[in-house]
Amino acid sequence: MVTDKELAELIFPEIKESLSDLENRYPERSLPEGAEVTRFAPSPTGFLHTGSLFTSMICHKVAHQSKGIFYVRLEDTDTKREIEGSGLQLLEQLKVFNVYPDEGYMGDHESGNYGPYQQSKRADIYKVAIKWLMENGRAYPDFATPEELDEIRKEQEKNKLLPGYYGEYAKYRHISNDERVERIKKGEPYVIRFKSLGNHDNKIQVSDVIRGDFEIMENDQDIVIMKSDGLPTYHFAHCIDDHFMRTTTVIRGAEWIASLPIHVDLFKAMGWKAPKYAHLPVIMKLDENGNRRKLSKRLDNEAAVSYFLEDGYPTEALIMYLMTIANSNFERWILDNKFEGMDNFTLSFDKMSLDGALFDMGKLNFFSRELLGKKDKETFYLEAKEYASKYNKELYDLIESNPEYFKAIINIEREKENPRKDYEKMADVLPIISFFYPSYYEDILKQGFSFNEKFTKEDIKAVLEGVKALSLEQDEQSWFNQMKEIGSGLGYAADRKALKANPELYKGGVSDIAEILRIALSGRKNTPNLYYVMKILSKEVCLQRIDKVIATL
Ligand code: GLU
Repeated sequence: MVTDKELAELIFPEIKESLSDLENRYPERSLPEGAEVTRFAPSPTGFLHTGSLFTSMICHKVAHQSKGIFYVRLEDTDTKREIEGSGLQLLEQLKVFNVYPDEGYMGDHESGNYGPYQQSKRADIYKVAIKWLMENGRAYPDFATPEELDEIRKEQEKNKLLPGYYGEYAKYRHISNDERVERIKKGEPYVIRFKSLGNHDNKIQVSDVIRGDFEIMENDQDIVIMKSDGLPTYHFAHCIDDHFMRTTTVIRGAEWIASLPIHVDLFKAMGWKAPKYAHLPVIMKLDENGNRRKLSKRLDNEAAVSYFLEDGYPTEALIMYLMTIANSNFERWILDNKFEGMDNFTLSFDKMSLDGALFDMGKLNFFSRELLGKKDKETFYLEAKEYASKYNKELYDLIESNPEYFKAIINIEREKENPRKDYEKMADVLPIISFFYPSYYEDILKQGFSFNEKFTKEDIKAVLEGVKALSLEQDEQSWFNQMKEIGSGLGYAADRKALKANPELYKGGVSDIAEILRIALSGRKNTPNLYYVMKILSKEVCLQRIDKVIATL
């Protein structure tokens, strides 16, 4: 009779290390009391998902506020789904958001004493653990063919039983080691399965730092722990890696709650204490019918972090926004702190919402406007240039054509107590400022102007002739007063009350004068502050533009 030990040796002759060797190689970390070791564990299967940025930001914060360690582990055991180069790209995007790992997989190298941090390079470590389980009768080779698995599934369906590979349905759990050896010697393909001792009729207590304690069905599935390619499945790799990397809290999406019984079972079989778990709320969105659904990579632009980068949202805005989803008290805190010093905010699992949080683009836009408004001229200029160099060549060329002119434009009503908030994202800059530049203005001129239809061409002409007298060698208030005077001379009310009291006496108000002038100079109804627009354009250019517009009337 072949023993479990002999079987294990037959399957893993090359594995000489023991679990205690691994315990010695990856000792407990010496960190201060209460320090959390967290990890972000992406699979290299594409772009950074907004939900993944959310998770990694929280992992980073929780580790740092407790003086612990945040590391990244690349979960690349699903070789079929892997997209070449996406691991590096994920890391680069994380760094753009200041989510720097202290340790682990860095994209082009790794650092730290608990590696390798790429699961595909840890096959031997998993095998040590699998060999140990097998020696102890808690793992076995499974020779089931796809057809056999299909048959099991059909039978369970027919009898309305829980689907899966468990108990009496775990066909190859029940064969003898002698038969196993025979099949292996014949060259039959196999995977390795965990032998669960659980029963799905039982309930077990599990604990989650966000959700508290709750009951869940005990696991009895003999899950695959080693695939035919020699690599582990997620569940097993999670158990081994988080143990030997000495993770204290596993922070991951709520979609993993359903797998918790498996994880608890695996840790128990290994004789280890499981880490704490924090299952984060899933980020949702309202669909066309008003129903909540998970942000979808396929359907929603905002599911990919690259969308925000391409549009030029300040990265801090997205991080702050995500923090409002993470902790309900953060929004008040950051407003009180005038959008500064986020590092001083303490994130707590108690204040985390349990249900899926709705992604609120309006709130992100608000944060973004505030943050862009607060940046000083030089910072805004550098960030705009950086953005443009990556995503917007047209803007880049404009900036480079005359950096001082660009700075003057974006500095309109900036660097003051209550700065103007013209820009929501860097992608707004070009459309808002292009009229300042002659070639763009020529296009506007060709397209024509849409003045308020209540005014005749003569009215508009008269206003435009009148405002030529506006002097820019005076402060804004005097300039505005002069505009009122010009308006009064043409039959426009100088103040709103007079206009409201007797509208029939006037052609309009001073705001109509300003609007006509604004449209003539920019082709737009909304621009940054008109007084400064004129000053930056210069009196000479303003007069030229006004004449050109008059000529089109
Ligand atoms: N690789 C898993 C994923 O992509 C990680 C889950 C976890 O953090 O444990 O979702």
